[in-house]
Amino acid sequence: MAKKIFRRLRGTQDILPKDQANWSLVNDTFAKLCVDAGYKRIITPIIEDTNLFVRSVGSDSEIVSKEMYTFEDKSGNSLTLRPEGTAPIVRAYLENGLSSHPKPVKLYIVNEPMFRYNRPQAGRYRQFFQIGVEVFGSDNAQTDAQVIALAVRFYQRLNIKFELQINTIGDKYTRKKFKSALTKYFSEVRDKLDETAKMQLSTNPMRLLDSKDKKVIKVCEKAPQILDYLDRDSRNHFEAVLEYLDQLGIEYDLNPKLVRGLDYYNKTVFEFWGSHQGMQNSLGGGGRYDGLVEELGGKPTPAVGFSAGIERILIEIGKTGQRPAVTSPYVFVASLGDEAKKEAFALTEKLLDSGIAALSETNKKNIADQLSKAAKVKADYCLILGKKEILNQTIIVKDMVSGNQETVPIGKIVTTLATRYKSK
Ligand code: AMP
Repeated sequence: MAKKIFRRLRGTQDILPKDQANWSLVNDTFAKLCVDAGYKRIITPIIEDTNLFVRSVGSDSEIVSKEMYTFEDKSGNSLTLRPEGTAPIVRAYLENGLSSHPKPVKLYIVNEPMFRYNRPQAGRYRQFFQIGVEVFGSDNAQTDAQVIALAVRFYQRLNIKFELQINTIGDKYTRKKFKSALTKYFSEVRDKLDETAKMQLSTNPMRLLDSKDKKVIKVCEKAPQILDYLDRDSRNHFEAVLEYLDQLGIEYDLNPKLVRGLDYYNKTVFEFWGSHQGMQNSLGGGGRYDGLVEELGGKPTPAVGFSAGIERILIEIGKTGQRPAVTSPYVFVASLGDEAKKEAFALTEKLLDSGIAALSETNKKNIADQLSKAAKVKADYCLILGKKEILNQTIIVKDMVSGNQETVPIGKIVTTLATRYKSK
């Protein structure tokens, strides 16, 4: 009698040769965009100390309370297959002294498996793969906008349709006040809640806003809104993020019900929703986590990140097509003065949109510092914007190899660079 063949575990997949082209397309496209924007790759282990996730994601979260693959090793240590990538990266950032590197420290991951013990269905697996970025050391709203712009650029490169949902969940005092307002509100309509919602009410009432249950959604319509409880700093920060997104022409839906299910988030949270309806609609998400580095033993360090599941992106790609990657020069955008810095920020994003690797560091005041950074990162060109250039709507292009420089109209810079590079 033939022996029984083994089957893969429920909620896991074999990525077969026929699927490899698209699989690589997703990872390579994301890696290229990250490298262009000055991110460095990091790989962390698949197993970690269980407490890392309990401390960061939170013991009341769905992930920690229900979905972790936790086991004891032969020495009796409690280990967990990582359910998400941020906490391990923060751990690695602190453990390996990355925290002493010049800020911002910009890291990215591609093709990293994550594990969650949930009920498998289309687009939801027990082992799934993520791409993502984490930026440490910047509390500037521009950084939130840059991370979002990178994600937008990624989906656009792959011709994927998405809706950007964005919200702010304020600081911990905001959330404390907001949670007690929600508890009061939901306690009064307790009989309309299902069992899960009742449990969430006692652990984290903000999660109810995220509920997929029709009755709970109805009850949430009249629930208090976080915007009414927001601290001034978070409000200003959020307004600035939205202004930067407007400046970049990125459309978004303000979604006061978006809370994300992990404890470490504060201020900006966002999600990208795909074209299909239903529970597995999220193509990616992220937000700020300014308190996490300190919570895990480091110095207070603002941070923001984004991650997306590869499988759901592949489902979307199945509905569209593929686009080849582009080769490009490497440009550093230097600027002096507030107006110029704002322009440099938008120009950098525009260059990246056009497939040109670009970097700017608008937190550096001095032009000499910026030029030496341009040389250090081995940029092919340095673009220089000062008050005079803003006034004349021009920009200086310095060829970093020959040292020659010229002035061109700012409206033509992207095409000028693209053609010049091709003829090199
Ligand atoms: P989260 O941290 O839960 O928001 O997850 C970030 C992204 O990872 C989601 O937007 C999905 O694209 C993906 N993702 C999360 N959980 C799963 C899963 N069980 N199966 C497949 N993809 C997932």
